[in-house]
This record gives sequence, C-alpha cells and structure tokens, in this order.
Amino acid sequence: MRTVEGEEVARGIMNEVTIIGAGLAGAEAAWQLARRGVEVRLFEMRPKKMTPAHKTGLFAELVCSNSLRANGLENAVGLLKEEMRRLDSLVMAVADSVSVPAGGALAVDRDLFAQEITNRVTVLPGVTVCREELTILPEQGVVIVATGPLTSESLAEHIRQLTGEETLAFFDAAAPIVTVESVDMDKVYWASRYDKGGADYLNCPMDEDRYREFREALLAAEVHEDHLGLDEGEATKGKVFEACMPLEVMAARGYETMAFGPLKPVGLRDPRCGRTPFAVVQLRKENAAGSLLNLVGFQTHLRWGEQERVFRMIPGLERAEFVRYGVMHRNTFLNAPRVLDGDFGLRGDPRVFFAGQITGVEGYVESAASGLMAGINAWRRVQGCSTLVFPETTALGGLARHLAGSPTGDFQPMNINFGLLPPLGERVRGKKEKNSRLARRALNALEDFCSGALEDFCSAGCQEVLRIEGCLSGDDLATIQPISDG
Ligand SMILES: Cc1cc2nc3c(=O)[nH]c(=O)nc-3n(C[C@H](O)[C@H](O)[C@H](O)COP(=O)(O)OP(=O)(O)OC[C@H]3O[C@@H](n4cnc5c(N)ncnc54)[C@H](O)[C@@H]3O)c2cc1C
Repeated sequence: MRTVEGEEVARGIMNEVTIIGAGLAGAEAAWQLARRGVEVRLFEMRPKKMTPAHKTGLFAELVCSNSLRANGLENAVGLLKEEMRRLDSLVMAVADSVSVPAGGALAVDRDLFAQEITNRVTVLPGVTVCREELTILPEQGVVIVATGPLTSESLAEHIRQLTGEETLAFFDAAAPIVTVESVDMDKVYWASRYDKGGADYLNCPMDEDRYREFREALLAAEVHEDHLGLDEGEATKGKVFEACMPLEVMAARGYETMAFGPLKPVGLRDPRCGRTPFAVVQLRKENAAGSLLNLVGFQTHLRWGEQERVFRMIPGLERAEFVRYGVMHRNTFLNAPRVLDGDFGLRGDPRVFFAGQITGVEGYVESAASGLMAGINAWRRVQGCSTLVFPETTALGGLARHLAGSPTGDFQPMNINFGLLPPLGERVRGKKEKNSRLARRALNALEDFCSGALEDFCSAGCQEVLRIEGCLSGDDLATIQPISDG
C-alpha cells in the first residue's frame, strides 16, 4: 500500500483514501471517491468478525427495518433522498432499483439491496477491499472512519483516546419478523394509512380491552439481562434512541402512548366493519416476495420466549411464526459538536474524516448522506483543495449543521427533520405548503451550491482536477434541476 505524509496530504499530492467500515456510509463514500478517480482501500471486518446485529458479510446490510422511510418531498427524509439522488448517490440508486411496495415510503428487499451495493462497490476501478478489522487508524494518508454504531471495541477505544472524548454507549433496538403464511388473514386487513399509495400494510386491529390486556402483558414480561452496563431504569430514563425506542419502554410511559405511536389507528378504518379500531399493529413486507413481515415499531428488549407469548396476543398473530426476534444493541457516537467540523473532518486533523452513525446522525439514509458528504470532502482533501460545507438550507447541510453546530452539552443523534433547516423567513399557511417551499428552496440552493463550489474550485487553482475522470462536470450539473415552482 502506498503511504502519504501529512504534509503531502495538505499539499494534495496523494490520490488514495482509506475507508474503515463498509456499511451504508462507507459504501457511499467509496462510491463517491472512486467515481472521481481516487483509489480507495476499504476495510470491512465482517464476515471474519461480526457485530452483534449484522448477519452477513455483505456491505450496507440493513440491521433492522427494511424501510428508508418517506419518499415525498413534503417530508424531510424524502428531500434528503432527492438531494442524494441528484448527487449520484449509490445507496439511493440501489434502493430505488430494489424497492418493495410500502405506501408513501421507500422500503427495499434487504438481501437484494446489500448484495447489489456489495457488487457495485467491489467492481469499481481503484477500490481494494480488505476483509480485516482495523483497531487503530492508519498513521498516514486520508482516512474516513465509518464503523457505525457497533464499532469494534478496540477501535472505539482508540477513537476515544484520539478525540479525548468519552465515546457513548446507548441501547438501540430491532423489530421481530414473522412469516406471512402464519398470519390469520380472517382477522387482519390490507391498507395504507389514509389509503396513500397501495394497500401495502397488513393491519391487526385491537379493541380497547385487547389493547389493555396486551399492554399489561408487555409491562409484566421479562426482558433480557442487561449486558451493556445500562439497566432498564436507565433505558426508560432516556438512554435509548427516541426513534428506535423499545415497545415496552414506550408502553411504560403512559396508557395511550403506544396508541399515539406505532399502534396509531388514524387513517386505518377497518373495511369489514367501517370503524376505526382503538389501536392497530401494522406489519410491513420485509422482502420482495412478500413472504416475511416485520412488526412496525416493535423494537424490543423482551426475552425471545416472552416475545412469542406477548406478541401472539395481537389479533391475527395467535400462531405467528417468528423468523427473527427483536434485539437490542449498543450505539456508539462522537460528541460531534466538540470534535467534528461541518465538512465531517476531525477538528485539528486534516487527514481524518468521520461518516455514518458514529458522527451522531441517525438512520440509514442519514448515515449514507454523511458518507456522501465525507466522500466528496475526502476527494477534495486529496486534491489539495478546500473542503465543502453544504448550504444550511439543504437537508444535507442541515445534517452537517446539527453535528457541528449543536450545543455540546447533551448532544443527541437525530434523524433529518425540517427543524434542522433555517426557517423560511415568511409566514406560510399549512404544514404541507411550508414543507414544500422548504424543499424547493433546498433543491435550488443545492443547484447553486454545485455551480458555486465548482467556481471556487477553479479559483483555488485546481483546474487540473476538473479534468480528472468522474469529477463533477458540466454534464453532472445538467442533471441537477431546480424543481418547478408549480
Ligand atoms: C440494532 C440496530 C437497529 C437499527 N435500526 C435502524 C432502523 O430500523 N432504521 C434506521 O434508519 N436506522 C437504524 N439503525 C441505525 C443506523 O441507521 C444503522 O446502524 C446504519 O447501518 C448505520 O450506518 P453506518 O454506515 O454508520 O454503520 P454500519 O452500517 O453499521 O456499518 C459499519 C461497518 O463497519 C464495520 N466495522 C466496525 N468496526 C470495524 C473495524 N474496527 N474495522 C473494520 N470494520 C469495522 C461493521 O462491520 C459494519 O459493516 C439501527 C442500528 C442498530 C445498531
């Protein structure tokens, strides 16, 4: 392997980047770099050394839900996905090509998704895949650390020493999966909320008596012994991801909390009686064949036997066959506002970038988005050019702003949401209209930014770089269209 001194990096002599971790973020970063002609050494420890959540050696394995969430531009994660598509995201291209029906959301066949990403990255010219765990960062050359929430312990300890920060360990959770053939179809019905998109969810309706019994059983059920140093009390005190909260923790928060959360019945009228149930458990297709269904929002820390006993109280699931049980795991992330800059670089060390969940973004799409930005910036670094901070009015920039600009005191991982973007500066009636204007502003800003960044690039004396294979070119820019005002 060719090595590079720090000074050479600063002068932009080196054309090679080491990426640690081939998850959502690492795979996307590798793609962004390699298509611009940068050589990439991609280290992935699986399958030699597995994490507690991954099951395969494939890149970009989705460890829990198979959903990349909402697709429409009126939703912030839909906007983020669109911005990524316009910047030639690998994760988005593959997700779109292996999607499964999921109403207004983008869900994927998880096996095809991971297989296709692995194939496309592996055959990229200039990419060398090393199936090894790295326990320390390479001493030379530009590095992107994308080792995720389950970063191996030795590397996590090394990063903690490097950044001088406590690396935090939180609980996180994954939902169970059942076979469709084991569901009692006489008790359930297909529908999407408010009939949006196709009838893609299988809905298990509950009356109030059944809901009460179910909640009581859930609260009384045995949970796994804590193996990570946090007890259930700490979990209920908030040491869990809000967006991936175990169902039993949610149930403990209040009688109706579940009925306002994952068991929300609104927009899901039962067509057989014409009434809206008290609560609804939704099951979503897990694979393209539709043979597997996951229990939406049912991440849990219950013992496996207890999961069977309690979840079989759900109407239609009395004989459910579980092909995966819910599990809980560690989550590792940096105190980003203290140690990261808005370009995903480690403050004070021009060689090192971070990407993915370890930066404190949360979610598959957000992790891939940070990989995209870190990849572009690592490319600029090896070319000796200034790095980029995406405009704060874009969803990409909103994420970067959350990391670098949040108060350092109690920094928490966060999904993308419109609250991370600056307000419009004008009063707009209705959430839908407001969100669509925010989206329009974001896509226009992204277009301006791409042309602006290129001009910047030229004035920095990097005209040579504009000619390298895969560099953003006039052709690329032509694909970045402002959305119409209509
Ligand atoms: C249990 C669980 C459930 C989750 N559920 C969801 C969900 O339903 N929806 C959602 O949007 N997000 C979910 N997340 C959060 C997050 O979006 C995913 O974890 C996502 O995969 C993060 O992407 P990443 O690229 O940062 O990390 P990963 O996809 O985990 O990739 C990191 C890679 O680095 C490798 N690695 C780690 N250490 C080393 C090392 N020292 N050397 C070499 N390789 C190493 C790992 O093997 C892994 O392949 C979940 C997280 C967990 C842990």
